[in-house]
Amino acid sequence: MTFSSLISGTIPHHGKFSARTGPVIRVIQHHWASFGGAGEAALASPTTKKSVNYLVYNDGVIKGQVPEEFRAWTSGSLAVDGVSITIEVQNQSGAPDWRVSDAAINSIARLLADIAHRKGFVSLNDGTYRGHREFAATACPGPYLWERMPAVRQMANAFRAGSNTSPTPAPVASKIVPYTEVDMTSFATEALTDAYYEECGRAPGNAELAPRRLRLAKGESTLKDEIVGIDKSVESNRWAVHQLYLELLKRGGGVSEWDGWIVATGNDIVKIRAGLTGSDEYKKLHP
Ligand SMILES: [Zn+2]
Repeated sequence: MTFSSLISGTIPHHGKFSARTGPVIRVIQHHWASFGGAGEAALASPTTKKSVNYLVYNDGVIKGQVPEEFRAWTSGSLAVDGVSITIEVQNQSGAPDWRVSDAAINSIARLLADIAHRKGFVSLNDGTYRGHREFAATACPGPYLWERMPAVRQMANAFRAGSNTSPTPAPVASKIVPYTEVDMTSFATEALTDAYYEECGRAPGNAELAPRRLRLAKGESTLKDEIVGIDKSVESNRWAVHQLYLELLKRGGGVSEWDGWIVATGNDIVKIRAGLTGSDEYKKLHP
C-alpha cells in the first residue's frame, strides 16, 4: 500500500479501484471543476464510481485515496488509468478559467518529483505528465492549469534535481485556449454534475441532464441559467425517494420512477414508502 511520503492523510477509497494493467508510466492531471468540497465529496462517496490516487487542495495539502499499486477510477478508461497515477486538484475559482492556487501547483510539482524519482521516470515531460483532456473529450484540467503544465514539469524537474527548493510560482500564461463544441458539452456536464452535488448531495441522472444539455446546445439558455434552475426542493424530494429505493429495494431507482411516485402520492414520503413496501419487487426481496 504505497503513497508518497508527502501526503498528510487519506480519504476512504471504499474499494473503488482495480488491478493495474502494467507498470506506471505517467501521471495524469485532473481538476475537480469545483472550488468547494464537491470534488472531494464525489471521490469519497461510496456510491459514485470515481476515485483517484492523489488529491491536492488549495492550501497545498496532499492526500491519498487509492494506493499507487492500484488503478484508480479517474479518467474513465482502463487503458488510460491502468498505467497511470492520477491527481485531482481543487480549483480556486470557477469557469471559465478554473484557477488553481500557487500552493496547490507547488504541491503538484513536489508530488511529481517524488513519483518520478520512485518510478524511475527519466524526467517530467509531455509523456510522463499529461492532462485528462489529452485522453478524452473533456475540458479537464481547466485552462488555467492546462496552460501551466509545461511550467509545472519544469518545477518538478528542478525539485527532483534539488536545485530549486523554494521556487517561484509557475509563470503566468497569456492566452486562454478556446473550448471546442465537444469540450463544451463535457464541460457543461461536469459543471452541472458539480452543481447537483452542491445543491442536492448527489450526481444527476441522465434524464435530468439531457434536457439541460439540449437547451444549452440550442443556445436557449446559459450554464448559469441551468445551474440556478436546479430546483432544490424538487431535486431534494427525488433524493429522498432515491434513498428509499436504496433502503427498501437495494437499488437507486431512476428519475422516472421517483417522479412517478412523487406525482402519484402528491409528494407524500410516507405514502411512497408504503407503496414501495407493498410492491412485488419488495416482497420478492423480503419473502
Ligand atoms: Zn478529469
